[in-house]
Amino acid sequence: QYSPEKSSMENRNTSLDDIAGIEALKDEMYELIKFLRDFQKYKDVGAAVPGGILLSGPPGTGKTLLARCIAGEAGVPFFSVAATEFTDMFVGIRASRVRNLFPAARKVAPCIIFIDEFDALGQKRAGQSGTEEGVDERVATINQFLAEMDGFEEKVGVMLVAATNRPQVLDPALIRPGRFDRIIEMNLPNKSARSDIIRLHITKRDAWGNCEPDLDIDYISKLSSAFSGADLENMVKQCIAKAAGQKGGMATTEDFLKIINSIRATKSFSSGSKD
Ligand code: ATP
Repeated sequence: QYSPEKSSMENRNTSLDDIAGIEALKDEMYELIKFLRDFQKYKDVGAAVPGGILLSGPPGTGKTLLARCIAGEAGVPFFSVAATEFTDMFVGIRASRVRNLFPAARKVAPCIIFIDEFDALGQKRAGQSGTEEGVDERVATINQFLAEMDGFEEKVGVMLVAATNRPQVLDPALIRPGRFDRIIEMNLPNKSARSDIIRLHITKRDAWGNCEPDLDIDYISKLSSAFSGADLENMVKQCIAKAAGQKGGMATTEDFLKIINSIRATKSFSSGSKD
């Protein structure tokens, strides 16, 4: 039932250069990439195998992107699934969905299984709602999942990367030591990270020609506090589209500031980075 995403070929063109503002994490990421690339060598010498990674942080901070970049940089298949896919299915099918995913991944290992909205899985075990039967099913699903996770010790080369916006509601059993080796916080970017993300998105769109040469990225970053990577991408996209729509149009710092205000007006920014 599960197959590596159709976009896994596309992943091969994705690398850590496609993500910005995560300098502090890059060394750690290269370690994981090296493991995935040289999996056979690690296996042959019986070296320690890295366990799962939990990426925790607000929406749009690049958790999915980071997982894709690791897979792309390592050139391995990428299975992406939302935990709600396990929990929303008809009673009776859920546990087998989980059962199917892991063998499919093992067949093409080394690879990454990315599980988004991981808290949906953990939360359900609390069984706050649903019928008795539904609760039993959830427990079976989680237990199946935990069994599969623990099976990673067999050194099969399947790296589990999970993401959550709400680490506080995770079932402690899911993050018990030994199940996830590392919990990585993906916070909202600070000013210098925002500058890097803005530059990256302008470059990626090959859009320097649509921006005034003296664009004040430092000032734009300063005024876009509390923006996530996804908000910054959206900001760049809107500015470039507007400039490209005007004859000989060039996006100015002022244009960016206007778009920042309009994005702010459509989103509630309850928390932000410190600068
Ligand atoms: P969610 O919790 O909502 O699933 P997420 O943390 O997984 O969000 P992504 O889906 O990875 O966030 O980010 C959305 C898009 O925002 C990315 O595809 C990318 O274009 C842009 N983006 C986010 N963070 C970064 C970053 N650090 N560098 C470059 N682009 C970024």
